[in-house]
Amino acid sequence: MAPQLLSSRNFESLFESVDTFLFDCDGVIWKGETLIDGVSQTLDLIRAKGKNVVFVTNNSVKSRRQYAEKFRSLGVPSVTQDEILSSSFAAAMYLKINNFPKDKKVYVIGGEGILEELQIAGFTGLGGPEDGEKRAEWKSNCLFEHDKSVGAVVVGLDPNINYYKLQYGTLCVRENPGCLFIATNRDAVGHMTDLQEWPGAGCMVAAMCGSTEREPITVGKPSTFMMDFLLQKFGTETSRMCMVGDRLDTDILFGQNAGCKTLLVLSGVTSESNLLDKGNKIEPDYYTSSVSDIMKLMES
Ligand code: PLP
Ligand code: CA
Repeated sequence: MAPQLLSSRNFESLFESVDTFLFDCDGVIWKGETLIDGVSQTLDLIRAKGKNVVFVTNNSVKSRRQYAEKFRSLGVPSVTQDEILSSSFAAAMYLKINNFPKDKKVYVIGGEGILEELQIAGFTGLGGPEDGEKRAEWKSNCLFEHDKSVGAVVVGLDPNINYYKLQYGTLCVRENPGCLFIATNRDAVGHMTDLQEWPGAGCMVAAMCGSTEREPITVGKPSTFMMDFLLQKFGTETSRMCMVGDRLDTDILFGQNAGCKTLLVLSGVTSESNLLDKGNKIEPDYYTSSVSDIMKLMES
């Protein structure tokens, strides 16, 4: 069915049929470092009606603790770490669920958030933002040493990516037997500033795909890996969840892949004309301009 504009006619039936609202963060809750109008009040109202709220972000740069801090600093202190699912956390959980051996190490091309989540989960991370001081030498007899106990390489957004990191990660994946290659997410672009979209983790992951000739396991949206936690946590059927997002190929596809209801908000990267374009194949159940419309419809 074609996406329906959210209105007083269809809102109540949607709201009644949902126990858990999953909110994407960038473009829905905030844009870069700016909170979107009405978010805090809307979340309070949704909670007051007994619904669960969960925040699902593909941005791997921060840990859940750091995202809870971001919510606090933006004036939404009610959000706890337990309600946040970031792709940094998902990467650590993927290893935990798959019984990744504690004596193996994880090489990270990405931010502090991944290293922090790995440490909390009891894994030893190497690499991260500061890695790469030591440049590869281009001598004919140079042998580049890498740690043979690395059993997984996790790749997320790394603004300081360099040849050394790619070389290290590539050697681990190609030469260490059974080494996993995990992508936190493959977003083409992200909001590193409020004003523009800049290259996202997708290009770092693509660089590693090129050199390893492997495809990664992706734990972020639109993969449904993160949904497994949600199902364990809330025990509700996915049909009683609604994914609220601004991006069709990550958020809405994630919701659809998992069997959730889907609501696209136009406060982020997707415009109404993108949505209604004949070439667009990913259609949410509902769309509206921003999350604060939920509050307006609840109050009307
Ligand atoms: N990755 C990066 C690096 C980003 O900056 C962003 C958004 O700003 C995203 C991913 C997408 O995040 P979300 O899933 O919260 O929209
Ligand atoms: Ca988003």
